[in-house]
Amino acid sequence: MVIKALRIVLALAAAAAACVLFWMLVQKKQQQAAVSIPEPEIIYTGEDFIMDTYVSQKTCGEGADQLIPQAAALLEELEKEWSAWSADSVPGRINAMAGVSPVTLEPAEYDILRQVMDFSTETGGVFDPTIGPLVKLWDIGGESPSVPSADQISTALSYVGMENVTMDDENLTVYLDRPGVALDFGASIKGYGVEQVLKLYQESGVQGALISLGGNVAATGQKPTEDGGTEDFVIGLRDPLGSATDYYGTLVMNDKVICTSGGYERYFEQDGKRYHHILDPATGYPAETDLLAVTVIGEDGLRCDCLSTWLFMSGLDTVKEHLEEQDYAVIAVDNQNRIWCSSSLKDAFALTSDRYTLAS
Ligand code: ADP
Ligand code: MG
Repeated sequence: MVIKALRIVLALAAAAAACVLFWMLVQKKQQQAAVSIPEPEIIYTGEDFIMDTYVSQKTCGEGADQLIPQAAALLEELEKEWSAWSADSVPGRINAMAGVSPVTLEPAEYDILRQVMDFSTETGGVFDPTIGPLVKLWDIGGESPSVPSADQISTALSYVGMENVTMDDENLTVYLDRPGVALDFGASIKGYGVEQVLKLYQESGVQGALISLGGNVAATGQKPTEDGGTEDFVIGLRDPLGSATDYYGTLVMNDKVICTSGGYERYFEQDGKRYHHILDPATGYPAETDLLAVTVIGEDGLRCDCLSTWLFMSGLDTVKEHLEEQDYAVIAVDNQNRIWCSSSLKDAFALTSDRYTLAS
């Protein structure tokens, strides 16, 4: 009797032990499975404030989180190098030596300057990196901007103009001919920065990544979907008549730099009139234009940034002349709520807002 009871207890104990062992094995297997199945693909995000604007990044895939601080560091370096407000930057050093002596640049710095100057010449000085004194006077992104007096504007204007700049391609020097002349690269360096970040992403072999630097955007690769697949990044084009989160259209465009200029982001209002930050070197006032926004898409980020600023200033007729260029594409929004789009973008661009109509 006692032996039988003991046998039952032993059998139960053995069964229980077997159960525990089985459960442990299952657990172990699950743990192993969790280790051996590839990590679910992840999207990392980063938000920074660099070059006086918001930077947002999205990177996907293994190790992609590390790209976010790398890209931010790259942009911080560029900001140090090109900010018009810093004494050690390229424009800071050149401006400080205005009327004193030429400044020698590194070849890469000189090359950027050369491209911006050549672009300015191409546009007959409408795009003008010597706009510095006017940008400082208007201080549109500053604490309490107001409309300067006509005298202040004509004084600032007297320092604006490419004829005040002497460049020496042999010795890589730049000279501004009198104190008060000042360079400003606000219209070109963000596009260049986005191009550099795009190269960083591409060279890293990341699964997918997207950067937006104050309206200048680039994407590469793909992002994972919840069902285990992948999909393209979809870039929203900001509605110039809407709020900061409204988009008028979407663009699917990898491995290109997408630069937008408009009067809706940096401006102030005085006596019911809006004053935006893109200044006309012919008048000293914000450029009068029949456009609300211009987006330029291409491989050369510096050039696309310059182009978007210049096309915005130049207006619809000029945009129409440049819709079918070889090396860049354009999407422009005019003040009649019409969208003008290069034919090469027909598949990539989709109008999503009924506030606008597609004109081309
Ligand atoms: P954002 O800097 O807002 O992306 P843009 O690329 O169009 O927009 O550049 C606007 C900046 O360009 C201004 O803040 C100023 O620093 C500079 N700028 C203003 N007017 C001109 C101009 N006529 N030519 C060249 N640069 C300009
Ligand atoms: Mg620009």
